[in-house]
Amino acid sequence: MNFDHLTLSEIPATDEELRPAIRELITAHIGSMPLHKRARTWMGGDAVFSRAMGKAGFLGLTLPRKYGGAERGPLARFVVVEELLCAGAPVGMHWIADRQSALVILKFGTEAQREKYLPRICRGEMYFCIGMSEPGSGSDLASVRSRAERTENGWRLNGQKVWTSGAHHAHYMIALVRTSGEPADRNQGLSQLLVDLKAPGVTIRPVPDLNGDHDFNEVFFDNVELPHDALLGEEGAGWSQVTAELAYERSGPERIYSSAVLLDAWIQHVARQPQCEARQRLIGSLTAQLVVLRELSVAVTSRLAAGEQPVVEASLVKDLGATFEQSVPTLIADDLASHPEESVEPELWHAIMTVTHIAPAFSLRGGTREILRGIIARGMGLR
Ligand SMILES: Cc1cc2nc3c(=O)[nH]c(=O)nc-3n(C[C@H](O)[C@H](O)[C@H](O)COP(=O)(O)OP(=O)(O)OC[C@H]3O[C@@H](n4cnc5c(N)ncnc54)[C@H](O)[C@@H]3O)c2cc1C
Repeated sequence: MNFDHLTLSEIPATDEELRPAIRELITAHIGSMPLHKRARTWMGGDAVFSRAMGKAGFLGLTLPRKYGGAERGPLARFVVVEELLCAGAPVGMHWIADRQSALVILKFGTEAQREKYLPRICRGEMYFCIGMSEPGSGSDLASVRSRAERTENGWRLNGQKVWTSGAHHAHYMIALVRTSGEPADRNQGLSQLLVDLKAPGVTIRPVPDLNGDHDFNEVFFDNVELPHDALLGEEGAGWSQVTAELAYERSGPERIYSSAVLLDAWIQHVARQPQCEARQRLIGSLTAQLVVLRELSVAVTSRLAAGEQPVVEASLVKDLGATFEQSVPTLIADDLASHPEESVEPELWHAIMTVTHIAPAFSLRGGTREILRGIIARGMGLR
């Protein structure tokens, strides 16, 4: 068992120093944004805000300067992301490109691919989506059926992706597809392709969520012709590349702060009411849980900063974080229901509804609770 490595760490002062500037940028952009929209945290997007983030140097924080990055460590990004999520800033447009696509391109891409994509990601002008899940291939990702065949000019892609967040805004998808063999070959014969979503033969259809919002999509590929340099990394090495990508996806502070805007708004509501001991206990319990989760998340990020791959620990934080995030809207709704004499701002109710509707997704996106617990159990030597 490796959990003795998850020692508490401090964020260096040089990274903490980023807070005033990112706070200023956020305040300038979200002044009039309603609470229920801020409560969607990283699911809400605004191209103007993404470009402003890029201009201020807050995107690609860990990327090399020669591609437009800031060449800082993961803890600098932790500070910036923490501020964005706690304020409910509209990060959705650049979110996936900044969090994982850029890192995958940096790690596995050719020099030409890095030069083509990374500077535009850092400027907040180019967005990506994740093309992993397919109907029948979610947790069992190795069974993907979308297939690309080599042609004289590059690749011909056919198949379908589903639950693709932000595909309707994104310029590119990094898709996991089969380039040889059969689905029964599992993780052999898979590759990652950079798919231009404007290419003929790509169809994107919305899948509305429980709030009626359009975040998810189905994406269909019908004889999509892609150039040779659509291949990202090595042909047939898609499985190990996608595993590295999932590590970036699971380790960030977004796995603990999805209900933070709502929690903050409710605490502000309570502060305006007569004192109540039960409420003080509830606020103490929720904030104590959040503080502990944050310490764990900082500790995981510190290990990433040290060049390690804390896959088991990141899974542990994501699982505990999702459980916490999901408990918040229910506990707050129960609390308000037990004070029927109070007048509650309609926006607070709207935010509770919004988070209640998206909360089931917290333990699905980025790997379900059961899959993460399987990883944790394996790491602990239990299976
Ligand atoms: C908000 C949100 C955003 C998403 N965005 C994207 C995206 O941008 N791109 C993308 O590719 N995908 C995306 N997804 C899809 C997500 O990755 C899948 O939903 C997830 O991997 C689960 O796959 P599935 O939905 O097919 O469920 P299934 O894999 O069919 O699982 C159904 C249930 O069975 C359980 N289960 C499955 N296998 C096992 C097992 N071996 N042991 C124990 N239990 C098991 C699961 O835990 C789950 O409870 C998103 C999902 C959500 C909710």
